[in-house]
Amino acid sequence: MNLSETHSSIIDDIRLSHDISKEVLEAILATDDKASIEYLRSSAREVATQRFGNKIFMRGLIEISSHCKNDCLYCGLRRSNRTAVRYRLTDEQIYECCEKGYRLGFRTFVMQGGEDGWFDDERMCRIVSTVRKKYPDCAITLSLGERSQESYQALFDAGANRYLLRHETASPEHYARLHPSDMSFQNRMECLQTLKDIGYQVGCGFMVGSPYQTIDTIYSDIQFIRGFKPQMVGIGPFIPAHDTPFAEMPQGTVAATLRLLAVIRLIHPSVLLPATTALGTLHPRGRELGIQFGANVVMPNLSPVDHRKDYSIYDNKICTGEEAAECRACTEQRIRKIGFETVVSRGDYSE
Ligand code: SAM
Repeated sequence: MNLSETHSSIIDDIRLSHDISKEVLEAILATDDKASIEYLRSSAREVATQRFGNKIFMRGLIEISSHCKNDCLYCGLRRSNRTAVRYRLTDEQIYECCEKGYRLGFRTFVMQGGEDGWFDDERMCRIVSTVRKKYPDCAITLSLGERSQESYQALFDAGANRYLLRHETASPEHYARLHPSDMSFQNRMECLQTLKDIGYQVGCGFMVGSPYQTIDTIYSDIQFIRGFKPQMVGIGPFIPAHDTPFAEMPQGTVAATLRLLAVIRLIHPSVLLPATTALGTLHPRGRELGIQFGANVVMPNLSPVDHRKDYSIYDNKICTGEEAAECRACTEQRIRKIGFETVVSRGDYSE
């Protein structure tokens, strides 16, 4: 399919139907027609602006542990990576990050980490309920991987509101090529459904350009998002991490990530869609471009600076040297420069 002649009606159709065919998806990813890409970009931005105005939500990210029991082939924190530096924040350090974040105006805290048994239900529920009591006006987002239904429920009861768990790929065969055999596609998907059933606002997502990704797997990702209707979708380019099996694999591209951000905005207009750090790592203005292609969330880092570089899921990650306040100011300035306004309010999902 050649987009260049008919791009406006094709893209209008995605916008109206909230659906896309595999042929159109393939054409969007393949085209080098500037007018088609610009129409896609401006349509996605228009849809985001209709819902959210020029507001971009800021979430404060706290990377609580670089220990992980999993061995995902793409990730720098995989357990077989003997060169990865491992740390875990103490309860007190996590509370300090929240306090710093709160003073900087953040009203969402995202606690993310590898799958680390140290953060068992007792410890994690204690942390969540302490933060919940101290900041009743804040949203608490967790991103701690696969846990049991009981664990997700206990964390929800302790006060967590949102959970980010990228599905990584909606193709079981592709999933099996990205993960060791002790991880299962079915369990990942069941976790997502469980989280939703419990009442979390749920985020799924995938890496763009992950090894063995094809147009078919991306099409399944898009169809999965259409069906699952998550409140959030996190996508960012795959970036190789040294000392992992995928260290020599090609990285994802900024172009494909931006086009997929736009497609996701068109098929799921109300979704909370971050412009990720990975996008900012591959392009000096990656996050700004993400916003211009329909993203409406950024996640400045609140983690203690002395551990930042050790949460090394991929190589050359940006924002590893700045204090939380600098990170916030820099993000805000970048966003203002392109005509948008940052908001630190909870920014809950609404249809
Ligand atoms: N352990 C939790 C989990 O599995 O959801 C949260 C941490 S995990 C490191 C967060 C996300 O980082 C993963 O879902 C994956 O998509 C992304 N990621 C891991 N390695 C990456 C890489 N090399 N390039 C880009 N993104 C990567």
